[in-house]
Order: sequence, then structure tokens, then C-alpha cells
Amino acid sequence: MAVQPRSIAVLGSTGSIGVNTLDVIARHPDRFQVYALAANTSVDAMLAQCEAFQPRYALMMDEAAADLLRQRMPASCPTEVLCGQQDLARVVAAPEVDAVMAAIVGAAGLPSTLAAAHAGKTLLLANKESLVMGGHLLMQAVRESGARLLPIDSEHNAIFQCMPVAADATPSLRGVSKVLLTASGGPFRDWDYERMREATPDQACAHPNWSMGRKISVDSASLMNKGLEFIEACWIFDLLPEAVDVVVHPQSIIHSMVQYRDGSVLAQLGNPDMRTPIAYGLGWPDRIDAGVAPLDLIATARLDFEAPDEARFPCLRLAREAVAAGGTAMAICNAANEVAVDAFLSQEIRFTDIPRVIEHSLSMVAAVEPVSLAVVETADEQARAVAQESVAGMLAGVKSVSNA
Ligand code: NAD
Ligand code: MG
Repeated sequence: MAVQPRSIAVLGSTGSIGVNTLDVIARHPDRFQVYALAANTSVDAMLAQCEAFQPRYALMMDEAAADLLRQRMPASCPTEVLCGQQDLARVVAAPEVDAVMAAIVGAAGLPSTLAAAHAGKTLLLANKESLVMGGHLLMQAVRESGARLLPIDSEHNAIFQCMPVAADATPSLRGVSKVLLTASGGPFRDWDYERMREATPDQACAHPNWSMGRKISVDSASLMNKGLEFIEACWIFDLLPEAVDVVVHPQSIIHSMVQYRDGSVLAQLGNPDMRTPIAYGLGWPDRIDAGVAPLDLIATARLDFEAPDEARFPCLRLAREAVAAGGTAMAICNAANEVAVDAFLSQEIRFTDIPRVIEHSLSMVAAVEPVSLAVVETADEQARAVAQESVAGMLAGVKSVSNA
């Protein structure tokens, strides 16, 4: 009997994860069909994706981009163009949708990720910022609606693969003593502070092993990515912070490990290609072709490990402090980081100013219980305002030095 293809909504379809997701989907036309695509402003890329995948809906968050897409959509496409958060929440919750790839970058992804969780969908979660920001709300929505959360972030996908998992995809901690979260160390792993102080956005985005969007690339260079992933691991697997260790592994071949009470350590290995965790999430519980080259262990030759240096990379410590503070501190940490990364990418502040901006916001904005989305969004806004002020102060400092 022919099986009905699963209907997928890909949010952030024009980004790095989105494009890789569509690459895997295109390999399995019998298994998957694209119901909706969503992006921010990239009209050309969205138009090409609509022509290739013929989705029912294409959503642009930006109104001018939505208008342009509507004008340019060929009559041969069955695609209706939508715009804005409300339309997006409605589309992900549509009864036709089986699974939602949440791959919008940053806090902007929270409302749609949450909508997918509330609607009980299979949630393929790449958008780690939404979990860092609203972990309590998101995990509660998953539990209450019976949604199935499958982690796409490579480390969490590896942990999921190495943990005991129930038939409904709920991970269990039976016999688990620790989770070992691997980190590549990023492009500045062996740079001293003075050199990092002069780092340019392009240097920060030149990741040695992974090709990714610019925001997560900067996060990888500062190790804030590992800080966010540390928080993400605590939420997804219901772990205490002391049960998660970060291990620097420069080759990015082991994507993370689970250590058991009896001394066993299970690891998931593979080439650093996001199509592996994406295919795992799309196909679960089956294993499907991802287009990824098989791992050549002889060519890899060696796997190295070292401890992270929290003096040179304070973002990891700041993420731990946000977890310890609890409540909306994680949302504050995330929002300040987003402002700082934007300011660094537009060359308003130095790379080494990123942790200073975050630390300042964490000390200035009081954390409260994250009882509702409104409370989390208020914390996010307050932290952004404080972070903008410290960026402006640093900018004034840079200008007065250059004018002297
Ligand atoms: P990217 O910058 O390449 O793409 C971001 C996508 O989000 C684009 O399609 C963009 O149009 C869309 N977008 C941005 N703002 C939006 C808004 N306000 N509303 C709707 N859409 C919006 O980013 P990426 O590297 O693909 O990362 C996406 C998410 O996946 C991030 O949360 C990142 O941390 C996570 N992630 C990425 C990788 C990776 O290898 N790239 C790995 C693990 C996790
Ligand atoms: Mg990761």
C-alpha cells in the first residue's frame, strides 16, 4: 500500500539549515512534500524554492518582500503568499502539517516554534535561541500537546541518538551519568586575547569545519554557541547543569557523547554535514539517505580533546551563570548576545566586546519567573535596550579615540 508523503513546513527555508533541509527532502519525493516555506526578506531564493517545491504557502516576514514575491510568483505555482507572525503561527498549526522544521535564526523564531509545539506537531528544532529564551514554555507546550521534539542541532541530535529513547521519542536518563557536549573551539581556538580583539567579522565567520549562517558562526567563534547549546541540552534532556560537560574536539567528527553509570561512553560520529541530523529528524525512526559522504576514519586519523578555556572565552561562563540565575536570565543572555553579535557584524564593536555587552545586560536586568510568553518577551526587550546602550557607549568610545 502506498504511504502518504509527510507534509513539512520549513521555516527559515532560505538559510543554511533551510537549504540543507530542502536538499534532503528533494532526495525523497515519495516520502515528503513541502506544505509551506517561510523566510524573512530573500525574495529571489524563495521564488526559486517555490518553483522547485510547489508549496501551498510561502511566507515572507517582511511586508515589502511579501508584496514583491506575490507580484513575481508565476501562474504555474499553486503557492499563496502570506506575511507576518500571525499567518506563520496559523500555517504551522494547520491540520495538513505533519512536521515543522524550525530553522529561523534567533529570538524571531520563538512564536512559530511555540505554535508548532502547541499544535502537537513533530518539531524538528534547529532554532536553539527559542529554547534558550522560552525553554520552560516550549517544553511545557511539547508535554501538554503530545508534540514530538526531535533535536536538529548536531550535538543534541547526537545525544538523542546515544540515549535511551521511548517509542514516542521521549528521551530517558536511565543509567545516564553525564552528557559530554563537544565543541570545535571555533576559528579562534588557539588565538590569544590581543589577536581576538582585532578579529574581523569575516575571520569570525570562517569556521574551520562547518558552513553555517553568520550569526551562529560568530557564536561558534565566541563559544556562546556552546553556552546556548549547554542550556539547550538541559531543557531537551531534562539535565541538571552539573550533568553536562563541554569538551573541545577540534575535528568535529564526534558530535557529542553520553556517559553511563557503568563506565560506557556512547558517541555519534560522522562528517560535519548538517544533512545527517536533518535526515535523522525527517526520517525518524527510519534512517534515510542524506547525501552525506561516508566517514573515512583512516583519513581522519586522529581525534583530539581538550578542556575549554573560559578565560579567553567568557561566553561559556556567562551561559552557565544565566542557567544558575534561572527564570528569564537565559532570555536576557540570549537577547544581549543577539544585539552584540549584530553590532560586531556591522563593525560597531570589537569581537572581545561581545561578552562585555552580555555581562552588562545580565547584571542590569532582573530575572523573573518565565510564566508567560509576554513575560519572556518583556525580558528580551529590556535586555536588548540595555545591550543597545552599552553598544552605543562602546561606539562613542571608539569614535572619540579615532577623533583624538
Ligand atoms: P541563516 O542566517 O543561514 O538563515 C536564517 C533563516 O531565517 C533565513 O531563511 C532567514 O530568511 C530566516 N529569518 C531570519 N529572520 C527571520 C524572521 N524574523 N522571520 C522569519 N524568518 C526569518 O541561519 P542558519 O545558520 O540556517 O541557522 C538557523 C537556526 O538554526 C539558528 O537558530 C541556528 O542557531 C540553528 N542551527 C544552525 C546550524 C547550521 O549549521 N547552520 C546548526 C545548528 C543549529
Ligand atoms: Mg550545534
